[in-house]
Amino acid sequence: MFNLYKKYLESLDEVLRKEFKSQKPFIKCQKGCSFCCEVGDYPFSRLEMEYLMAGLLTLDVEAQKKIKAEIKRLLKEKLSYKERFMHRCPFLTDEKTCFLYERRGIVCRTFGLASFENSEKGVYVKLPECVKEGLNYSEVFDGKEVVVENFKNFGVESPVNHSLNLNYYERNLPNEFKDLEFGEIRPMLDWFSQK
Ligand code: SF4
Repeated sequence: MFNLYKKYLESLDEVLRKEFKSQKPFIKCQKGCSFCCEVGDYPFSRLEMEYLMAGLLTLDVEAQKKIKAEIKRLLKEKLSYKERFMHRCPFLTDEKTCFLYERRGIVCRTFGLASFENSEKGVYVKLPECVKEGLNYSEVFDGKEVVVENFKNFGVESPVNHSLNLNYYERNLPNEFKDLEFGEIRPMLDWFSQK
C-alpha cells in the first residue's frame, strides 16, 4: 500500500542528504540531540500520518501503550490552550530517539535546515528554532535576525534555495511520484482529536 511513498521517501532522503551537506558548516545535528522533537506541532499530511500509524502496530505492546497514553495526555492538555499548542512529540523515546524513525514525517526530515520561505511581506530566510540555543546557523544569526551575507564567509552559497514547507514538496513531486496523494495537512495531534 505504501510502496510508492516509501520509494519517494528514499529519493527525498537522497536530496536532503545533499542539502545537509551543502549547509555543513552550520549543522550541529547529532545523535542524542532531540531539540526538533521537543517543541513543535509537527504538521503531517494524511498520507504521512497513515504511514506513521501503520508503523505503530509494528512496535512492542509496551511502546504502543506508552505512545497512546502520551497522546491521550497531550490531547487533554491541549484543551486548555487557546493559542497554537506546542509540545514534545509523543513518538520521542526516553532515550531521545524516534520510536518510528524510518517512518517519520517530511517535517522531521527537514528539521535543522535554513531555507527561503514566502510570506505576505515577501521572501525571507527561515532559520531552525535551535538557532536560539546556539545550535544550527548560530554563525549567521545576530540574536535578532539572520545575516545572509555571512553565509559566504563560511563557504555556503545560500540557505536551501526553496521552501521546506510540506506544501512545497507536495506541489513539486518528481514525475515518477505524481500519483502520490498527500491529502490534508494538520498538526499531528489534530489527527487524533478528529471525530
Ligand atoms: S515523529 Fe519522530 S522525528 Fe518526528 S518529531 Fe516525532 S520523535 Fe521527532
